[in-house]
Amino acid sequence: MKTDNNGTTMAKIKINGIKGMNDMLPEEAAIWEYFTDTARRTAAAYGFKQIRTPIVEATGLFCRGIGEVTDIVEKEMYSFTDSMNGEALTLRPENTSAVVRCAIEHSLTYNAPQRLWYFGPMFRHERPQRGRYRQFHQFGCEALGFAGPDIDIELLAMTARLWKAFDIKARLELNTLGALEERARHREALIAYFEANADILDEDARRRLHTNPLRILDTKNPDMQEMVNAAPRLLDFLGEESLAFLARLEAGVQALGIEYTINPRLVRGLDYYNHTVFEWITDCLGSQGTICGGGRYDPLVEMLGGRPTPAVGFAIGAERVIELIRETHGTMTAPDCEIYIAHQGGHTELAARSAAERLRDAGHSVIVHAGSTSFKSMMRRADQSLAQWCVIAGESEVNEGKLAVKRLRDANGEQVFAEQMKVAVDDLLALFAD
Ligand code: ATP
Ligand code: MG
Repeated sequence: MKTDNNGTTMAKIKINGIKGMNDMLPEEAAIWEYFTDTARRTAAAYGFKQIRTPIVEATGLFCRGIGEVTDIVEKEMYSFTDSMNGEALTLRPENTSAVVRCAIEHSLTYNAPQRLWYFGPMFRHERPQRGRYRQFHQFGCEALGFAGPDIDIELLAMTARLWKAFDIKARLELNTLGALEERARHREALIAYFEANADILDEDARRRLHTNPLRILDTKNPDMQEMVNAAPRLLDFLGEESLAFLARLEAGVQALGIEYTINPRLVRGLDYYNHTVFEWITDCLGSQGTICGGGRYDPLVEMLGGRPTPAVGFAIGAERVIELIRETHGTMTAPDCEIYIAHQGGHTELAARSAAERLRDAGHSVIVHAGSTSFKSMMRRADQSLAQWCVIAGESEVNEGKLAVKRLRDANGEQVFAEQMKVAVDDLLALFAD
């Protein structure tokens, strides 16, 4: 037993991470960076700028912004009371509501519409399984202040470009949710239809019948499939304007050569969508195949207290996409550095560090060996680092104002068996420049 500073005995306890919340290990850093770099470059290619909002928001924001009768608000939120001031807070389960909150608070769309992207962790208390975690990451875009469908098409072009960059095969499913009044009339027809089929409804469906009947269409219960398939279709309730919106969207997507199918049962989990809804789905991830979901949410800004502002966006599940990238590209190992510098301690260590700083000034990544200066252990570390070059600051070389240099790997990471060279410190930079 150890004792702490107050002399109390401390039992040793091992505390593990939280179920469904993953560590990103250093060996996974390269693939995550590849994902985020590609995503941010692609977003920039469409003129989108980054926005960051806090991970914690007032619980009321999500209740209002997502809808009370949704899986997220009913059972997936990490909500707690701030013990200091009693405020009801929630770890964000998604980021659209927070981006809209921020845009309203800072009058972002006052002068011009906004093209925004974000990346970060989201939290949902779900049953952890492959592709479904309690902390997961989303890369998302929100276009605020655009009535569409032009910008909706741009978002679909952007996501299609991303899959191409990642070499991922995904199929696009599109649908329209029409306008609010059309949904209201469809909703009435649906309720009447489901009431007439009350004996087939399961408990979840019966509970949602009057609160969110649209979600019943989304059921995964096989006993309800046949009944749900024959339910009144929103498409038959759409007015001229909604149909024209959909037609323009489809024409734009077709002109880009993006294949899609219309899925009339695609309603999405979030309540505030209208017109465009879409999902990108792959067959490679088992039942967690949706890698991106998005759509138009024109009513949301006003619902959250802003001026009426049309908006559309999407969110991509990073873990799911990274799993697909890993399947096609392997794990992606990145070298720790380009140049590993070994030394024999004392003034050779100072020479090593001064050479390293000059190389870093020139933009190289350099590790100066730290720890045991046994030659064998330094060479083993140099090799493990996957560096292309090993520089050795040995006594005799340093005394001559020189360093020994040995090529370990070529630019593709393949091992190279090269002779050691002796070079003057001033010539090092030129050597690594090409
Ligand atoms: P699902 O039907 O898979 O639960 P959803 O409709 O709840 O998805 P959205 O809220 O639209 O998902 O989130 C967008 C994307 O974020 C999803 O398509 C998915 O790729 C990813 N995602 C959602 N929940 C999780 C989770 N718990 N773990 C990992 N990724 C997730
Ligand atoms: Mg979900």
